Amino acid sequence: MPLYEYRCTDCQTCFEALRPMRESNSPISCPRCASLSAQRQISTFAAISKSNGDSSRLVTSSQSGGGCASCRGGSCATCGH
Ligand SMILES: [Zn+2]
Repeated sequence: MPLYEYRCTDCQTCFEALRPMRESNSPISCPRCASLSAQRQISTFAAISKSNGDSSRLVTSSQSGGGCASCRGGSCATCGH
């Protein structure tokens, strides 16, 4: 069962909860004030690993040497590669 992070919008408490994926967006009560207005936080780790995978796949499939997908072999100053 995945671990989700939530932040209570009433008291700003952050807490984690193990929940089935299909219930990740359903209301959960805050452990501090029992409010049901907690919002799920997007995991930073998951967001970073996903974007890394996408960009490396893009680069390898469209360029065989030098440059990268977004700057097409010129100077890479604009895209940071
Ligand atoms: Zn709260």
